[in-house]
Amino acid sequence: MGEPRVLIVEDEAAARELIEEILAEDGYDIHNAETGQEALRQADGEVDVVLLDILLPDMNGFDLVTELQGHDSPPQIVAVSGMDEVEYLQRAVASGVDDFIRKPISPTELRARVRAAVQRYGSQQSLIKDREFFRKAAAEEERLSSLVLDHNASLREANERIQRLNEDLEQANHELEELAANDPLSGLLNRRSLFKKIDADLERTRRHAAALTAILVDIDDFKAVNDTYGHVCGDHVIRELGGCMQRTLRRYDYAGRYGGEEFMMVLLDTDEASAAVVAGRLLDAVRAIDFDCDGREFPVTVSVGVAQHVDGDTPESWIDSADQALYKAKQAGKDRVERAERATTTATPG
Ligand code: GH3
Ligand code: MG
Ligand code: MG
Ligand code: MG
Repeated sequence: MGEPRVLIVEDEAAARELIEEILAEDGYDIHNAETGQEALRQADGEVDVVLLDILLPDMNGFDLVTELQGHDSPPQIVAVSGMDEVEYLQRAVASGVDDFIRKPISPTELRARVRAAVQRYGSQQSLIKDREFFRKAAAEEERLSSLVLDHNASLREANERIQRLNEDLEQANHELEELAANDPLSGLLNRRSLFKKIDADLERTRRHAAALTAILVDIDDFKAVNDTYGHVCGDHVIRELGGCMQRTLRRYDYAGRYGGEEFMMVLLDTDEASAAVVAGRLLDAVRAIDFDCDGREFPVTVSVGVAQHVDGDTPESWIDSADQALYKAKQAGKDRVERAERATTTATPG
């Protein structure tokens, strides 16, 4: 920073020179203006202090003050005048004058006032700088907070991606569960998931009084198939029969591998007579298959027991009824359907 700039605005040469002389020793960069217009021109650059004679030839001194105060970093304005009426002072202050010196000028007072004005200008400048600093800081904060917002947006995107991944994972898990629920050889439900579904359907049947029928299927003379064609061939038969049962079922029915060569089909909303018809179709379908092992063709038949679930049945008692019907079919010569034919209407408790 250079020397403080002091602009003397005074149309009287004698007064101007006097002021210059008084301030000469104080290390100011002193400029002069004889008119208001000249003062405005000079004050356009940086001026610390304006010593202003209010009575100017070309314009009202108060208007000049107002104009100077409108600058970005206005100078300190010290009015110098011979008039000291109260009203005049009030006008000076109202127009934005920072300080006031009366003529005739006292050198000591002038030097003190100018020094004070230079100091005020300095603090005003640093306030302006601070303000600029805070303005920049606020802008930076705004920029940062918009960054944070952007960041949040990408976090949200990442979250959505993770959520989608989780859904995919859930889907994959679901498929795995399905795989685990199925018996790998027959492709039907395994025993555990078969009973899980049965439990759920029994609950539903109780609530809605809907008919529910089990078809128990056992391969006829399967031991002989194994013995004659080999165990691998027996597995092939189980696989074929699994597909055959699956094709016989309607959309909401299901079948599971109940035991080694025993299967269970569950028909929803189906009574025993209708299920027996379905079972008959299964028998026909099985008879129609040409089982083939290493080029050797042979027939396979199954025997079936059909039992409708009745009130008071546990899963065990229900399946036991189907098993007894199956036993009847075996006894009667296999390759046939037998029904449990228990009473299926609700017995009135008495
Ligand atoms: P029935 O007509 O009275 O049912 O006679 P069966 O020979 O079918 O009945 P049995 O209970 O005497 O024999 C069942 C056979 O089924 C014995 C067993 O080795 C065979 N078996 C059970 N599970 C499997 C399997 O997963 N694969 C193969 N290949 N055979 C199996
Ligand atoms: Mg058996
Ligand atoms: Mg048997
Ligand atoms: Mg058998």
